[in-house]
Amino acid sequence: MTTATTEIPDVRLPPDLRPSDGRFGCGPSKVRPEAVANLATVSATWMGTSHRKAPVRSVVGKVRAGLAELFSLPDGYEVALGNGGAALFWDVATSSLIRAHSQHLVFGAFSSSFASAVAAAPHLEAPDRIESPFGTHPEPVARPGVDVYALTHNETSTGVVMPIVRPEGADPDALVVVDATSAAGGIPVDPSELDVYYFSPQKCFGSDGGLWLALCSPRAVERVAELAVSPGRWAPKSLSLGLALEQSRLNQTTNTPALATLFLMADQLDWLLGNGGLDWAAARSRRSADTLYAWAEASSYATPFVADPADRSPVVGTVDLDDAIDVGTVNAVLRANGIVDTDAYRSLGRNQLRIGMFPNVEPDDVAVLTRAVDHVVSSLG
Ligand SMILES: *Cc1c(COP(=O)(O)O)cnc(C)c1O
Repeated sequence: MTTATTEIPDVRLPPDLRPSDGRFGCGPSKVRPEAVANLATVSATWMGTSHRKAPVRSVVGKVRAGLAELFSLPDGYEVALGNGGAALFWDVATSSLIRAHSQHLVFGAFSSSFASAVAAAPHLEAPDRIESPFGTHPEPVARPGVDVYALTHNETSTGVVMPIVRPEGADPDALVVVDATSAAGGIPVDPSELDVYYFSPQKCFGSDGGLWLALCSPRAVERVAELAVSPGRWAPKSLSLGLALEQSRLNQTTNTPALATLFLMADQLDWLLGNGGLDWAAARSRRSADTLYAWAEASSYATPFVADPADRSPVVGTVDLDDAIDVGTVNAVLRANGIVDTDAYRSLGRNQLRIGMFPNVEPDDVAVLTRAVDHVVSSLG
């Protein structure tokens, strides 16, 4: 997996094997050049201006309304946002959403991190961990007393997608809390099947990192209010979802956000909604994914890592290479040719390519990428 410390083989891709954009990372991921150009156009009236004044607050309002539209949020659902990204939201959930006992489906690095954060919290019971081998996903199991079901729509570390449905037989006030960081905006979802859908803006939303955004059902908002006055419960302000909700209703964040991130997020929402919304975005990613997996299945040296086609992510493609091929060298050669971030998730430890196929990625570029990989592998012979 490690890139050889020796020289990178001098393999140059011919022009027809160079994608129009070489960014295939799974977050941060490709930002549309048009969005950056739009940001440059407004830079003097946007960057360096107050986040408590109308220009910024109206863009926060646009982001909140845009997400409500993109996800067709039912009445009563709210969009909250704050600083810190999806990983920080695990701590927000630990402080502000889990009453006592959560169940976690663990099938990769991200879902495992959330379960570990909860396990370390002295005010909560030891969480239920339901695990399955990497490359698959477990199913939730309804159990009395479980007050949060923690699901992950798309495990970015393994490239596994799972359906988001309320576990049948769960306690009536149990919450379904979904890490949607790499799924949101690229995979269809029914918000009535969940209570919190949280994510960062640097994956399907092709923005920059630093923020978390959360779609919250009325039941989730109620839980936040319940825990805020629960005796013996304390949450620092930075982890209070109640405070974030209050501020979000005013189109603000509790403390200063990155203005460029907000602008790029709003621009991306315009782009997605203007082109047909979530179904359009999902179809674009699906087209990229069909190309990638069909190539891997037909290849003599590449194989989709996720065995069950139904579990294969349409936004994060994982493809194992024959052990005879050193993926570290392949990635280094690709990088030298302007194709970047095709590496496997670092702790997965596989001889694997991982390809971000978020809506910003041109499906035709994925096709070019597969031919570029073929070229590099045969040149390394
Ligand atoms: C990227 C990612 C995170 C972490 O997001 P940050 O913005 O770095 O906090 C969490 N969960 C999943 C599924 C992710 O893909």
